[in-house]
Amino acid sequence: MLNIVIFGKPGAGKGTQAEFLKSKYNLTHISTGDLFRHHIVKKTSLGLKVTSILENGDLVPDKLTIEILENEVKKHKKTNGFIFDGFPRTINQAKKLDEFLKLLSMKISFTIALEAEDEILLQRLLKRGETSGRSDDTDKEKILNRFKEYTDKTFPLKEFYSKQNKFFSINGVGDIKVISKRLISIIENK
Ligand code: AMP
Repeated sequence: MLNIVIFGKPGAGKGTQAEFLKSKYNLTHISTGDLFRHHIVKKTSLGLKVTSILENGDLVPDKLTIEILENEVKKHKKTNGFIFDGFPRTINQAKKLDEFLKLLSMKISFTIALEAEDEILLQRLLKRGETSGRSDDTDKEKILNRFKEYTDKTFPLKEFYSKQNKFFSINGVGDIKVISKRLISIIENK
């Protein structure tokens, strides 16, 4: 099984590249952000709980996030593997993910971070906000808060996965197809 975590700050292109990897390697793509947005649209009790958190660009508490992730993984018993997009985002989530996968006799194969400078990401997000309908993409302060959450809470995962020899990073700036090729080269030459 191929279980890949895609890292990157908001706007780094995780969703786009995850969809590419999903079709190339026949994987199941799980985006916790998409799952939360689905609950918000459906106005479920979870959706109501997390609406303002997503709007402000804060992280949803680990407990709720781990629960939604585990439920989604359990729905896909027959798969070639998973591509985790936007999860884990904290050390606690990463530890819980390792424990959960172990119970299913699975493990993370490796993680790849898409790197890009904040200014480029900010411009990408503001542009995406013109059409995405996402309020967290239109307000500069909220975007900067999402960057800060990444730096404070998600960046330490680099060390966490490096210790397991499972951390790789690529340049996330350039043509989408070129970035996809950089990903393939990591996946196939490891
Ligand atoms: P994304 O679509 O990955 O940019 O996620 C959008 C928002 O969903 C984030 O700003 C968080 O509020 C929430 N979210 C998604 N994934 C996680 C996670 N792993 N941990 C905490 N919050 C998350």
